[in-house]
Amino acid sequence: MKAYKKRIVFGFEKQLIQAGARRCETCRVRNEKLHVPGCAMEECPACGKALIGCNCEALSPWDAEKVIQAVYGKIKNLEAALGAADESSCEKDSGSSYLQHAIMKYIFDNVPDTARKEIEEAFHIRFPGLIPQLQDDEGRGYYTAEQLAEALGIPLQEVHERVDAMLTAGQKLETSEGRHLRKVH
Ligand SMILES: [Zn+2]
Ligand SMILES: [Zn+2]
Repeated sequence: MKAYKKRIVFGFEKQLIQAGARRCETCRVRNEKLHVPGCAMEECPACGKALIGCNCEALSPWDAEKVIQAVYGKIKNLEAALGAADESSCEKDSGSSYLQHAIMKYIFDNVPDTARKEIEEAFHIRFPGLIPQLQDDEGRGYYTAEQLAEALGIPLQEVHERVDAMLTAGQKLETSEGRHLRKVH
């Protein structure tokens, strides 16, 4: 399994050094303390660039979720998210920085229901074998960890880790509108 890296505390950066500063100029933490999650001056422990913008995905799912949630919380509205998504897709990167995760999540949570339906339909076309195992009050489908692992081509263990991380970080799964899930199969 992938070895996760520890977050870098303020003052121990190798590249994003804030010379002589006693506190991070962005999130105001003191020396040897962790940056506030989502701080743009936190350094990636793998590549040394800004943690939220690089594509290393070096952190444990638990740490990653905290960072993604923090960035998500800073996105002001759908327009801003769409603009940022456009900008970041121009770079034709692999598209998996924490910033991009947060942007995509925000877009998915906040698009009008009609657009969300289109996204779900696209998912069905791409993975026709997938039948949702859970449904919410409004009839939206949700998928099991096994299905997601198969569809996304990642190990089941990683799906479970990500789900656990989301729950530990205090987030309800795709339930920003307080939807309740119930089993249908
Ligand atoms: Zn900071
Ligand atoms: Zn990196």
